[in-house]
Amino acid sequence: MHEFVELLSRTDPTVFQNLIGEEQRQREGVELIPSENYTYPEVLAVLGSVFTNKYSEGYPGRRYYGGQKYTDAVEILARERACEVFRAEHANVQPLSGSPMNQAVYLGLLEPGDTILAMDLSHGGHLTHGAPVSHMGRLFNFVRYKTDPSDGSFDYDAIRKLALEHKPRLVLTGYTSYPRDLDYAAFKAIADEVGALTMCDASHYAGMVAGGVMANPLDHGFDVMTTTSHKSLRGPRGGMILCKKEHAAKIDKSVFPGLQGGPHMNVIAGIAITMGKALQPEFREYAAQVLKNAKAMAEAFLGHGGALVTGGTDNHMLVLDTEKSFGINGKNAEEILDAVGITTNKQIIPDDPNPPLKPSGIRIGTPAATTRGMQEQEAALLADWMTEALTHPEDTTLHEVIHRKVQILCSRFPVPGIQ
Ligand SMILES: *Cc1c(COP(=O)(O)O)cnc(C)c1O
Repeated sequence: MHEFVELLSRTDPTVFQNLIGEEQRQREGVELIPSENYTYPEVLAVLGSVFTNKYSEGYPGRRYYGGQKYTDAVEILARERACEVFRAEHANVQPLSGSPMNQAVYLGLLEPGDTILAMDLSHGGHLTHGAPVSHMGRLFNFVRYKTDPSDGSFDYDAIRKLALEHKPRLVLTGYTSYPRDLDYAAFKAIADEVGALTMCDASHYAGMVAGGVMANPLDHGFDVMTTTSHKSLRGPRGGMILCKKEHAAKIDKSVFPGLQGGPHMNVIAGIAITMGKALQPEFREYAAQVLKNAKAMAEAFLGHGGALVTGGTDNHMLVLDTEKSFGINGKNAEEILDAVGITTNKQIIPDDPNPPLKPSGIRIGTPAATTRGMQEQEAALLADWMTEALTHPEDTTLHEVIHRKVQILCSRFPVPGIQ
């Protein structure tokens, strides 16, 4: 790898400079965006490997091009390991990322115009769960459920009422910004009552499911679970669909040739490695630590009088209401934290009165910092520093001091894959 980077520095210094800049940014700052992570050095190696040269349209054993001895082997391995990790009957590892993965499920199992019951965007659902700006919102009739405004919990009676009224073909759960686990048995019971299929988009927290610290929707009879491979799972950027055997043929046809052409075999090799790692005992420790760090951070914020959506966390993520906590919007909070070397992202909160580009909160997650080896002590320290910076939004001298402390902390926790 190294000699090629050296080659790049001579042949295209402009791209090289940006690569080095990004590497330095990742090394010297704390990454708290809950959907980000540092992938394994072995995954970085295969991503930049000759697997990227190969066209492999089709599936192992039935491809449209020759020369598939090694690509077949690596895709079979990725699928088998994914099934083992998630106790699934079938796995498709070809979706190019999370959004096409969800599209493939809707288009494979439903007809355009069908009704899907899904989680409202401002309450934690993803764009692909029927937000009006997503093309999926044009193709399917999404009916959205919300969380209980008093405490952020799921009101399963209200969801059941919506299901009885709208008779969805698919009941969809899973989220992109919600700090609690889900009651899959309750969702399954609602879906069964109206004869709907069940799908969980576990993109954010599949690493926690794999590591055994959060519930697995497939253990509760869900038809389909989807997940990105690059978030808490620590893999390359990609998507996976896990499903019951009875849906396997429809799902596979929907991904290819329905929606996509050639799969990215370098990514699939990376998914095989990632699933292999997820089967190791160390991964269970990692997932448990991600959770402990999030809880330590939540406790520290609450100790400083911070307002967390739902009052805490049961997963890898916190949603901090910065308006309520510090009187500043999420955009300003994100910028102040950027200035002290801590990366988070602005986040709409349930029924946010503020517009999406200046929402009321930020989202904070622990998967990446945990990958560096940070533990509860560091997590609490980070929450202290964030509180200090956000309590004094104008004090740039203080921000400089905190930034220095962040850099010193980071120097003690090297990023895997960055020298
Ligand atoms: C991240 C995410 C996606 C989309 O993944 P992309 O790879 O960004 O397309 C889909 N669903 C959920 C719940 C997510 O968190």
